[in-house]
Amino acid sequence: MIPAAFEYKRPMSLEEALSHLAQYGADARVLAGGQSLIPAMRYRLAQPAVLVDINKLPNLGYMKEENGMLCLGALVRDTDVEFSPEIRSRYHLISDVSMVVADPIVRFRATVVGSLCHNDPSGDWAAAAIAARAQMAIQGPGGARVEPIDRFLVDSFATSIGEGEMAVEVRFPVPNALTSGAYEKIERKVGDYATAAAAVQVELNPDGTIKEAGIGITAVAHMALRVEEAEKILRGQKPTLELIRAAAEEARKIANPNPDARGSAEYKKDMARVLVGRGLIKALKRLNVVVA
Ligand SMILES: Cc1cc2nc3c(=O)[nH]c(=O)nc-3n(C[C@H](O)[C@H](O)[C@H](O)COP(=O)(O)OP(=O)(O)OC[C@H]3O[C@@H](n4cnc5c(N)ncnc54)[C@H](O)[C@@H]3O)c2cc1C
Repeated sequence: MIPAAFEYKRPMSLEEALSHLAQYGADARVLAGGQSLIPAMRYRLAQPAVLVDINKLPNLGYMKEENGMLCLGALVRDTDVEFSPEIRSRYHLISDVSMVVADPIVRFRATVVGSLCHNDPSGDWAAAAIAARAQMAIQGPGGARVEPIDRFLVDSFATSIGEGEMAVEVRFPVPNALTSGAYEKIERKVGDYATAAAAVQVELNPDGTIKEAGIGITAVAHMALRVEEAEKILRGQKPTLELIRAAAEEARKIANPNPDARGSAEYKKDMARVLVGRGLIKALKRLNVVVA
């Protein structure tokens, strides 16, 4: 199908983009990589009256560390992350995710921020942002604000972005030398959305106990979820297989997937458990901790 008719705006500055968004309010949609919005428009699931294409905005393709955060501008593509040596060497969770979202052709266009704004219940970036405790920087008629990811992700395909606003940046805390993470995803074939996936980040204390843990699961509920009970179980404890099993079980408990062609609800719930366990073991191994 072809999309319904729409007006097309191609601003050359952030100010111009924000002014279009303020003018058209709920009738306008931001166009970033277009990898979700364009298909949705072709199926007429989305029929925005005005598209504000942000691809010509200068200075939104940056990846920089500032004030203890890795900041990715709204035009950072998945492949920018995937092929960054800096990210590959230090940001294990983010690097893992960037290699398994969709396929290389989609990743070349799709943006990290766009994926978070889309908030697909099977999106990979949302789980990672939850585990890493990311923040979103948003601008709009009311000025600039920063939202923790848990407040930003509201529901299936819904975020806290209001009328006239756009997300300009996602921020991931810079991991220290005792922090690592991993992303575990099962898919029917390369390029598919997840059947189930888990994002894990662990920070150790110098004595080897777990200082902080972040766990996000996706494709197993109405939206990506934080497995808070698992994080509580891990915090302050020495990492053992028994502890990891107990934490992973919490993912199975809160997963509430729909059965579909990718698997039964019971299978997906169990995969949430398995993938959290695998993610924890991989993240710890990256910190030279072999659990027994
Ligand atoms: C064949 C195929 C396979 C895919 N497989 C996967 C997969 O396995 N895992 C996965 O996670 N994703 C997958 N995707 C989705 C894709 O990877 C992107 O995450 C997704 O398209 C969103 O990024 P985008 O930049 O293309 O956003 P767009 O499609 O341009 O926008 C998506 C939505 O977010 C809004 N938006 C975008 N940027 C902003 C902003 N800065 N401020 C406010 N609102 C904004 C838009 O208005 C729109 O509503 C797949 C897509 C395709 C086509």
